Amino acid sequence: MKRSLTILIAVLLVAMFAVAGQAPGKKLKVFISVDMEGVAGLIHWDETSQGGPDYQLFRTLMTGEANAAVAGAFEAGATEVVVRDAHDSARNILPDQIDPRARLIREWNGPLSMMEGLDRTFDAVVFVGYHARIGTPNAVLKHTMSLSLYDVILNGVRQPEGGWNAAIAGYFDVPVVFLSGDAAICKQIQEVIGPIGTAAVKDGMGPAASMIHPSKAREMIQNGVRTALQNLKAYKSYKPSSPYKLEIVFADENQARRASYIPGADRTGERTVAFTSADFMDIVKYFRLARL
Ligand SMILES: [Zn+2]
Repeated sequence: MKRSLTILIAVLLVAMFAVAGQAPGKKLKVFISVDMEGVAGLIHWDETSQGGPDYQLFRTLMTGEANAAVAGAFEAGATEVVVRDAHDSARNILPDQIDPRARLIREWNGPLSMMEGLDRTFDAVVFVGYHARIGTPNAVLKHTMSLSLYDVILNGVRQPEGGWNAAIAGYFDVPVVFLSGDAAICKQIQEVIGPIGTAAVKDGMGPAASMIHPSKAREMIQNGVRTALQNLKAYKSYKPSSPYKLEIVFADENQARRASYIPGADRTGERTVAFTSADFMDIVKYFRLARL
């Protein structure tokens, strides 16, 4: 009797493990940072901006891709999911249409910017709707944080937003496991932070792009997030080594001058400032102040 009870409990535990995709009772807290330029179907700045005639359509599509990532996370056994609206006003995702199992962070706050809300309690980070850094050939709406920045270089490595945000995640020892966006950023992010799951939802052709249907993109994102989280142990957090050196190349010389007034900053070129610290959070705070 006792033995059969033990076997029954073991069978139940195995069944729970199979359903949840993880050990029963184990926490899996997922942070999803959602940008807009890399959403399927989107090609022009007008489509990303409040007041643009097609903005409502594209914020619906952005919300749909966020929900696909949320669904993939819960299929992999997530116990908590936080979605960070990380584009422009940070008020794009439709709050009444986001998956009710997730929490949504809106508006800008502190220096973590597109990663605001992340801390050491999270187990994985996912990027949705991301785009390549400025200067990347055949990349849709490429830029890094702002059109007034020409380059953002961390420890000698030119960073797309995904690389910078992955370094913030690395500060908290949280790995990035998946990114969706155009084909250019899917390739570029892996050159910077190493192999992760990706879904390329469009291929840039100069300022144009060849697209897949948004419904197909959502399917790829949901499946990709689920698979990446089921293999969470395969991913390492991105941790550039200390001391950290951030170089910012501004499009405008006057901005470089202003950014050089912040204590600790060095003006290293006509449009370039550098800032070095052993504390990565100092670098993060400097970057936020320098581009105000
Ligand atoms: Zn954006």
